[in-house]
This record gives sequence, C-alpha cells and structure tokens, in this order.
Amino acid sequence: MAEKPPLSPAEQALIERIEALLADPAHAANPLREPMAALFAASEAQRERLGRLVHISDGYHLISRDQSQTLAEQYDRHLRRLDKLARISDRYQNSLRELSEALKDAALRDPLTGLGNRRFLMEHIRDETGRANRKATPYSLAILDVDHFKHINDRFGHEAGDTALCQIAQAIQAALREYDLCGRWGGEEFLIMLPETPLEYALQVAERVRLSIQALNFAFMEQEGLRITASLGMALHHPGEAYPETLKRADNALLEAKSAGRNRIGTA
Ligand code: GH3
Ligand code: MG
Ligand code: MG
Repeated sequence: MAEKPPLSPAEQALIERIEALLADPAHAANPLREPMAALFAASEAQRERLGRLVHISDGYHLISRDQSQTLAEQYDRHLRRLDKLARISDRYQNSLRELSEALKDAALRDPLTGLGNRRFLMEHIRDETGRANRKATPYSLAILDVDHFKHINDRFGHEAGDTALCQIAQAIQAALREYDLCGRWGGEEFLIMLPETPLEYALQVAERVRLSIQALNFAFMEQEGLRITASLGMALHHPGEAYPETLKRADNALLEAKSAGRNRIGTA
C-alpha cells in the first residue's frame, strides 16, 4: 500500500484540528460540518492518489536506473573485450612482423657462416653500382677463393672444412673497414665490396684480409703446421659499367692470381 505524501508540520496540525472539530459532538448540528467532512474525505482521497502516483513514479525511476546501470556494465564489458582483442591483434601483428623479418633475414643470410649470401651481395652490388654511376664515386670489389680447399676437405673431413669456412668468414669481416661489406659468394668463395674506394686503397684492405687468413690457426690441423691461404681477384667499377662486367673482370683477376701461384691478389 502506497504511503500518502508527507505533510509539513503546519499541514499536519491543520488536519488534526479539522479531525478534532469534526469529531466534537458540540459541532454536530453545525451546517458546515457535513460539507466540511465531505471536503476532508475528498482531500484525504486525493492525498492517497498522489501517494500512489509518487510510488509508481519512484518505481519507474528505479527501473530506468537499473537499466542504465546494466547498460553501463555491458558497455564496460564490451570495452574490456575490445581492449583484449586489440592486444591479441597487436601481439599477432608483432609476431607476423618478426616472422617476416626473420624470413627476409634467412633469405639473405648464409646459414653456415652467418654472412650475407649471394642474393644479399647482388642487391648491394646493384645499389652501389647505381650510386657509383650517379655520383661518379667508383667502388672496388674483390672475389676471394680459398686455395686448395678440396684438399682440406679430403684430408680433414667436410665438417672440419665447414669450421674453417666459418673462421675464414670471421677473419675477413674483422679485417674490413666499417663501411665495407662481405658475404659468401658460394662454396669457398667470398665477395668483398668496398664502397667509394679507389683500387689502390682497396688493395691495402685486400692485403690485410689475405694476411689475416694466412695467419689463422685451425684446431683440426694444429699438428700439421699447415696454413690455409686464399687468392683474391679485384676490380674497380668503371663509370657507366654494368656490374656483371665488373664482376667478370674481378673473376678473371682471380683466375690470374690462381695461375700465378695462389695466396696473392690479382687486379683487372
Ligand atoms: P683452388 O685453389 O683452385 O681454388 O682449389 P680448390 O680445391 O679450392 O677448388 P675446387 O673448386 O677444386 O674445390 C672447392 C672445394 O670447396 C670443393 C668443395 O667440396 C668445397 N666446398 C664448397 N663449399 C663447401 C662447404 O660449404 N663446406 C665444405 N666443407 N666444403 C665446401
Ligand atoms: Mg672456388
Ligand atoms: Mg678454391
């Protein structure tokens, strides 16, 4: 049952006064008593209706508050779910990016020595040739071939040969300048690219490489007192020359170094 709306103290006092007057037998014969009693009853009935209305309106208010609360909770839940999805998608994209970088790296790297492979070298030679032709700053390149490497394999085994190739790769890299580039050209051959370097300076670097290979000690042939040596063929890129031509000249210079006795540098 809905309560009647609360009264102010003055209204309460007025009601009590009217009730007392209506109940007083002394006023039973008063002609105003009957209409007054009817008016009082009507007023009380109205207060009761008002009480019901307030009750209903409060109910609506509570329902709409509950609904907006559940909507807010749903919204928060959705936000949290979206946040989680965004984080999963970020992680997924990161691992995809890492995977594609690893794939790209693997496609350009020689797995044995860790150096760039022939494809990596070709990309750089192509770029460097473009730069050399635009800026007229020639580069030098060297093809290095390990001498009598077949004999190393035959004598000490293929695994020992692999170890030797790794040591040689490290020695080449250590002898180069920061901006030079080397990679595995194939088999027991390496290619060295010396950007913006005239042949006379390139020769000094190549000689350092040759000497550092000759100075290497290999655990598998310690007893033998043998040395591993390498021959190098070098060429300076000519302005406007296509890079296969430069490579061909370096290769010819290498053949000359081999036929001249190995462990030396040929130029073309
Ligand atoms: P040269 O002085 O004329 O260059 O003689 P060479 O014996 O080095 O030349 P040849 O081309 O006859 O032999 C190259 C050898 O290099 C043969 C091949 O088995 C070996 N070789 C090529 N790649 C690898 C490799 O990844 N690992 C090992 N262990 N050996 C390799
Ligand atoms: Mg060879
Ligand atoms: Mg060889």
